[in-house]
Order: sequence, then structure tokens, then C-alpha cells
Amino acid sequence: MKLVRYGRPGKEKPGLIDPEGKLRDLSAELPDFSGKYLSSKSLKRLSKLKAKDLPAVRGTPRIGSCVPQPGNFIAIGLNYHDHANEAGMQLPKEPIIFNKAPNCIQGPNDDIMLPKGSVKGDWEIELGIVIGTRGSYIKESEALDYVAGYCVSNDVSEREYQIERAGQWTKGKGCPTFGPLGPWLVTTDEVEDPQNLALWLDVNGVRQQSGHTSKMIFGVKHLISYVSQFMTLDAGDVIITGTPAGVALGRKPPNFLKAGDTISCGVEGLGQQAARVVAWHKDD
Ligand code: ZN
Repeated sequence: MKLVRYGRPGKEKPGLIDPEGKLRDLSAELPDFSGKYLSSKSLKRLSKLKAKDLPAVRGTPRIGSCVPQPGNFIAIGLNYHDHANEAGMQLPKEPIIFNKAPNCIQGPNDDIMLPKGSVKGDWEIELGIVIGTRGSYIKESEALDYVAGYCVSNDVSEREYQIERAGQWTKGKGCPTFGPLGPWLVTTDEVEDPQNLALWLDVNGVRQQSGHTSKMIFGVKHLISYVSQFMTLDAGDVIITGTPAGVALGRKPPNFLKAGDTISCGVEGLGQQAARVVAWHKDD
């Protein structure tokens, strides 16, 4: 299934995309894609509904993030050789984990706002994992049983904040609007192999990133197992899995983001995002 949240920010309703590509309302079936509603039992129940019997949604409402604000929004650093090389960093011996602020999650096509004074805004197309079942010390061999589905993620970054402002990477990763997720949460039955997906990202229509999840240093199963050694993963938590080469930081000279740029990106089978980059302004 392709699950989707639509409507105004903070007021999103759950829906699904039917086989004809139409948006259908699921709000009579569940309140949101969170907690127990992401369990395999709940998703199985939804998969038995006949899409044509669900109310069709009129017009083209805004698409929200494919899951509501999670407890944990975890990112993996330097998980592709070519990206570690372009960033001039050593290959990690174990996965690098960092946090993105959970409230930076937003819809796939919402404006990306450069923070105040930002001069080094950057992009990172990534495969996102949404956890469906709570777990600690998850075995690698069972890791995929804990997944509700996958989504497109852009790990928007501010490199000056991330690298030049002391301490860990968190400062440059969780600014407001830095976590577009979606359009869809694609359930695992529709993703035959998460290590066999192409990913791409364009800025102003020019291809910047073109990668493949087969090239990850640490794969999805290992990452879930690994992260769960250090924290409990809850249903609805999101892990984004690192980016391939082609970010602004890796260019000579770097082509960092500026207001007015457009970013489009996608992951094979998981849909695509299209966002505008805007200057910092006070939230409404
Ligand atoms: Zn990243």
C-alpha cells in the first residue's frame, strides 16, 4: 500500500493511493499512521479494505509528511563510500548515528526554509525506514519484521552549522523544515528489496545525485539492529539511511542552496518530492 497523509499542516488525515493513483480517505478507519496503527496487524487489516469502497478525496490537497512527528528521527552518516570520499571523511567502522529534531519533519512538497544567516544549505536524498513495531536489541535476521514501510527522505543540512560550529552534527541537521518525508509510506509488501532501489536528486532541474541503495556500507537490516542496541525503537520512529555522492559540499566550488532554488528528488517505487527553497522568515 501507498499510505499518505493529506490536508493542512497539523490537521492531516490518513489516506491511501488506490491502484489508479487516486487519493482515498482512510479517516473512518484510523486516526493517523502512528503507534499501534503501524503494526503488521493493523496494516494487514487496511490491506484488506477495497480501495474503491473508500471515499475519494476531491481536488489536490497538500500532502503532509507520510508519518506524524516521531519520537525518534535518527539519521545515519557517511553510509556510502562515494559520499564519504567527497566529504573528505574516513569510512566509518561502525554506523554513525545522529539525531534530527523530530519536529523538522514536513510534507514532501513544502517549502524548505534556509535558517537565519545560512550560507551553506545542502541536500541529501536518502531511503527512509519507518518502524512499525517497538523493539530493543533487534536481531539482524528479524530486523525487517520491525519495519512498517519505506519512504523518500531529503536530509536537508546546513554545513556551516554541522561542521564549523563545534560539537556534533545535530546543529546543522534539525533546523525547521529540514526533514521532508514522503509523499508515501510504502508498506514492505511493495518493496521487494530495500537494497535494490535507485535514488536521485535534482536542483533547478539539474541532476546532482544519482545513487543506488545496493551501495550502502551498512544495509537496512544491520542499521535497524545496530540502532536498537543504543535506544528502543518505537512504532513510528524514522531512520534515514545516509546519502550517496553529489551533495553541494562535495563540489568545487560548492553549489550551496539559495532562496529560489527548487529541489526534486525520489527513490525508485517510493514516489518523489518537489520543494522550493526560501529564505528564513518567521513561521506563521
Ligand atoms: Zn544524511
